[in-house]
Amino acid sequence: MDSRRVWRYTASVGVLLCSLASSALGQRAPEATSAVRAGRLIDVRTGRVTTNAYILIAKDRILRIADSAPAGVPTIDLSRYTVVPGLIDAHAHVLGNPKDQSSASGLRMSSAQKTLWGVHNLQTWMDHGFTALRDAGESDLGYGQLALRNSIESGLIRGPRMVSAGNFVSVTGGHGDADVLAPDQQLAPRPNIADTVDDVERAVRRDIKYGADWIKLMASGGVLDPISDYRVEELSEEQMAKAVEVAHRAGKKVMAHAEGAAGIKAAVRAGVDSIEHGTVMDEEGAQLMEQHGTWLVPTLFCFQHDLQTGLSQGRDPVSFAKGVAIVKEQGPAFKRALAHHLKIAYGVDDDPDFVSKEFGALVGGGMTPIDALRAATVNGAELLGRSSEIGTLEPGKFADIVAVEGDPMADITVMEKVVFVMKGGEVYKRVK
Ligand SMILES: [Zn+2]
Repeated sequence: MDSRRVWRYTASVGVLLCSLASSALGQRAPEATSAVRAGRLIDVRTGRVTTNAYILIAKDRILRIADSAPAGVPTIDLSRYTVVPGLIDAHAHVLGNPKDQSSASGLRMSSAQKTLWGVHNLQTWMDHGFTALRDAGESDLGYGQLALRNSIESGLIRGPRMVSAGNFVSVTGGHGDADVLAPDQQLAPRPNIADTVDDVERAVRRDIKYGADWIKLMASGGVLDPISDYRVEELSEEQMAKAVEVAHRAGKKVMAHAEGAAGIKAAVRAGVDSIEHGTVMDEEGAQLMEQHGTWLVPTLFCFQHDLQTGLSQGRDPVSFAKGVAIVKEQGPAFKRALAHHLKIAYGVDDDPDFVSKEFGALVGGGMTPIDALRAATVNGAELLGRSSEIGTLEPGKFADIVAVEGDPMADITVMEKVVFVMKGGEVYKRVK
């Protein structure tokens, strides 16, 4: 049975079950409350393109895909555009001013101010068609990102659906140590700093206590900070294994920032769910990830972008020098990831004004356009643990719908031209 027939079969069983359930309750089957007419509709699972398709919507959910809309149902005409599922950014940092790259930026702003910036930043994600994201951790002991997630969920503010990591769990002087001051000006001890296995357990428990969905570990040094070395492993394999044990026991997942080869391998052996960046991944690391089924979120564009912004946004010259060195590594590492058919999700790790640029970087790095679309839809949904609700345009899922000008299969950069955004049946951006 091809997947389209499976889909139809599943849909008709679904309709049958719905009608049985509703007749038992004396109710009618749901009717379409609105419709979207798509000039071209991409099925991201199969890569099939259907022309002139109608997405029938009942309130916030997709009812079915049809070849017409029932008379009287309000229909949005996107017949000039290509329609895809709402996009998913699996590596976002929503708090603060994304155009301030100075190493003290996080220390000059209160949690409240960072969170208000977050409200603003989230509208940029929405405007680019990103209706869901995973916050990849923040340097904010007040957990502004969790307040934003909860406020979107309860309808207090508008923004993408969010799952979120807590603080960066990091060794002293590691990539997640916010204390960039001189030794005699030191900050008060911060609970995300973990130099022992016990420290890790305590830091992970604190994140879980305050509502994190994910734990973010710093498995290696990084680029943006002025202190750490991206080539070296930071948290030990034993520390990361403890984080995985504690998080998984609580039903949470673990993501590891890992650039250097040793940090990647230690994190994978420790059982983390996703490797972030993987910029200096060697052959052995790629093999290990394939064996363990570990996700990769490659974030290619942000490193390329660094070369363009240079020192213009307050970047520390030490950090910029690291950026110049590491960008040479990403091409070969990404080729290894593709050769080993790793599970890949889309993540930008950058100013949300540039969130759509990762599409071009992925395809430029050797990925096919349909796989780049999958990374930002069906794969992202799976990584976020939200497959039953988002990631494809299928009956029962949220009506998260995006339209672009042109054909992304022919030119993936048209994903930068989002003209229409709907989240949960509500229009956020209209065709002008
Ligand atoms: Zn990041």
